Amino acid sequence: MSTIKTPRPIRGTQDIFGAEAEAFAFVTATFERLRKLYRFRRAEMPVFEKTEVFSRSLGETTDVVSKEMYSFEDRGGESLTLRPEFTAGIARAFLTDGWKQYAPVKIAAHGPVFRYERPQKGRYRQFHQIDAEVIGAAEPQADVELLVMADHLLQELGIADGVTLQLNTLGDGQSREAWRAALIDYFRAHKDALSEDSQDRLERNPLRILDSKDPRDKPFTADAPTIDEFLSAEAEDFFAQVTSGLDAAGVAWERNPALVRGLDYYRHTAFEFVTDRLGAQGTVLAGGRYDGLMESLGGPATPAVGWAAGIERLAMLVEGLQEPVADVLVVVEDDTVLADGMGTTAALRRAGFATELLASGSPRKRFDKAVKQGGKAILALTAGEDGGTRHRLRLDGGDEAAITAALEGYSWN
Ligand code: ATP
Ligand code: MG
Repeated sequence: MSTIKTPRPIRGTQDIFGAEAEAFAFVTATFERLRKLYRFRRAEMPVFEKTEVFSRSLGETTDVVSKEMYSFEDRGGESLTLRPEFTAGIARAFLTDGWKQYAPVKIAAHGPVFRYERPQKGRYRQFHQIDAEVIGAAEPQADVELLVMADHLLQELGIADGVTLQLNTLGDGQSREAWRAALIDYFRAHKDALSEDSQDRLERNPLRILDSKDPRDKPFTADAPTIDEFLSAEAEDFFAQVTSGLDAAGVAWERNPALVRGLDYYRHTAFEFVTDRLGAQGTVLAGGRYDGLMESLGGPATPAVGWAAGIERLAMLVEGLQEPVADVLVVVEDDTVLADGMGTTAALRRAGFATELLASGSPRKRFDKAVKQGGKAILALTAGEDGGTRHRLRLDGGDEAAITAALEGYSWN
């Protein structure tokens, strides 16, 4: 026996296979279909960026930057980071690749992202996101379009039931600052009862306390001052336009005045689609407006709004997806007709039938194996007395006429 130990997979990574992989692919295919319907342009983005792309965009004090990033020095001594999200990289590309010429530009992307978190159900260290952004659009219609698209996506995935859209506004820069000051005053009075993390956040980033998952913080977040007391007239009007747009499009929403997002770049609209069907990992899709982000990357003020969703969490909600059965199983019951097995299989596949060839193991058992595997049709091939190939078709939901037509042009050996 070998004494070499097989390496274990990296904690927090998943090998997605079979029915689970089908659900995953269903999510990305549905997203791809919808982004075309909403006329979003596709982008393929690098998996890593200079660390500052994320630290400057997301904010040094955020959980993602301070605890969750996979950062490393490359061989040239440069600090690089595996992307923990898409937005910052897309914003960087907007500035460095001259995408401004396309503004307002609607961008869709998907792929793996990386965060050093404690792995559990619905929370991984490598996970995957679908992502949609509208860059260079200041109008609330952009927020509405993204939200309608997100809602539509959940409908098309068949998981909209039991998922609610929670909506908030964080106001403009001015409203947000006033709210922030009031939150500091309020939480200071309860400082000793807060979790260590929240005590730490108090002066630097008090909004983050509202987003805390620590039970010690929950009693205080409920009665904290809300943004409504500090909203400027413009911010209030912006939010009203978003909500009336959603109402016009028939998208249900709920106001959650305590909803803040975990990243620093958000202004105005902030939202999460939440479910109670995934335990603690209930947020499936989240985003908001990030009008301040481009400036933090050294670019011109550029209004933008976007969202991202965890593909694994969406896929976990998708039920009843099995790996599809074959349209035709070609069974070679006698090895002397193997060439026709390979030939008919090729012809059927070229005609668009999902086809599998069964030509290994004991020839007598192959037919039973095919019945057991299950397919819409079995094409069984045997040797005739004249040396030619005989075939018979057994149907289980397959289309006899179409299969026969596909084989019409095939010249038997
Ligand atoms: P959470 O509050 O669950 O940590 P988040 O606010 O950090 O989520 P975002 O940064 O908004 O998440 O990312 C968007 C989406 O990506 C989330 O709504 C979720 O569906 C998914 N997501 C985030 N972190 C993970 C993870 N570690 N594993 C799997 N999916 C994740
Ligand atoms: Mg998180």
